[in-house]
Amino acid sequence: MIEKQKIEKLRNQFYLLNDISMLKPVLWINPKKQLTLPKDDFSIHEAKEAEELLKRFSSYIRAAFPETEKSQGIIESEIKEISNMKRHLEELEGIKISGKFILKCDHSLPISGSIKARGGIYEVLKYAEALAIDNGYLSYDDNYEKLASDTFKQFYSQYKIAVGSTGNLGLSIGIMGAKLGFQVTVHMSADAKEWKKQLLREKGVEVIEYSSDYSKAVEEGRKQAELDEKCHFVDDENSKDLFAGYAVAAARLQKQLIDSKILVDKDHPLFVYLPCGVGGGPGGVAYGLKALYGENVHIFFGEPIQSPCMLLGMMTGLHDGISVADIGLSNQTEADGLAVGRASKFVGKIMEPIISGCYTVSDQFLFNSLKDIYKQEHIFMEPSAHAGVYGPIMLMKNGSHYLSENDLTAKMEHATHLIWSTGGDMVPPEQRIEYLQKTLK
Ligand SMILES: *Cc1c(COP(=O)(O)O)cnc(C)c1O
Repeated sequence: MIEKQKIEKLRNQFYLLNDISMLKPVLWINPKKQLTLPKDDFSIHEAKEAEELLKRFSSYIRAAFPETEKSQGIIESEIKEISNMKRHLEELEGIKISGKFILKCDHSLPISGSIKARGGIYEVLKYAEALAIDNGYLSYDDNYEKLASDTFKQFYSQYKIAVGSTGNLGLSIGIMGAKLGFQVTVHMSADAKEWKKQLLREKGVEVIEYSSDYSKAVEEGRKQAELDEKCHFVDDENSKDLFAGYAVAAARLQKQLIDSKILVDKDHPLFVYLPCGVGGGPGGVAYGLKALYGENVHIFFGEPIQSPCMLLGMMTGLHDGISVADIGLSNQTEADGLAVGRASKFVGKIMEPIISGCYTVSDQFLFNSLKDIYKQEHIFMEPSAHAGVYGPIMLMKNGSHYLSENDLTAKMEHATHLIWSTGGDMVPPEQRIEYLQKTLK
């Protein structure tokens, strides 16, 4: 915990802290943003490597997960224009939002139904590949389909993978790890939904439950994994591999936008709104997009009003040195994927020159949006995924300064608002009904 005195100082320095403490939805604009990507310790080369590895594994993925047959073993989601939802939000909020609304449908990513299917699965596959190659069972030119055989399952069953999670990362690591034959342990925070634990147990994954929050579950997982040299720990707070896997989405999105004839250039700005938990998922995507689009992309992270860890870390420059509890917030939110009180050790630092800002959103909005998108567009997204939907509203209501300073006001007619949906397909029918009927006050 940071001492009271220091917090008082921070409150005087950053006036937004008071609104944040009072649970008001806020927009923070990042003063350190630069036009293009600087060189730093993570390079775009690592994202390219991730893309290559995922290609090598596509024949295996296709064999092991028939639902990826259509995409030939590539784990990707579509983009979709959601103009009904746009119109609905304009009416509801009494505002006009210039530009197109496009949804990036990661709620329907194959295999694990959330944005974690890129980063999490990449890290598991990278570990699996290294083990098989080091032991002489595989070479890079092989057809990786053979990894689906019993020989490989037996080989992998000597090794372990562990992860700490609020739910979806556990699903992604657990499903892929167990499929390959690994012994997988998932350390689940108290926020994790019961059905996620149950699903993992059905797949033979060991689930350890904690009554505390995400940071504690990660810490315990890390500690236990360190004692075992045959155990690989997927470290959501520090992993460069997760980050690289998430970044793969950017180049694929670029191709989808071109195919849909959606321009991104100096006169056609692209706004991207991403739900943010510990930061790896949105951070990886942001990194990849900045590398491709430079000054023409404007990226915002959305967080629950009780869990704005990335906003706090970036605004104060303290990154993982400050938690939401330090300013009196509870980290209690129905957006389980975003219930993170302390941001990643390295992502916020990398994001300093990249993202345009962060905003916060109430759980009440998330649930209204859940119902509205279902009604307007026949799309089901879990509560966390709706943090992106609030982005364009926040920008229109409180971001006019940002738009004018960046010479964007006149270009908004030609803008694209890309709302990054992050999870939903794995949610069972009974839970969906519960969400669709829920009203928050
Ligand atoms: C994990 C998750 C996020 C955010 O990713 P982080 O890497 O934790 O920032 C957003 N939405 C959903 C549904 C998630 O599961």
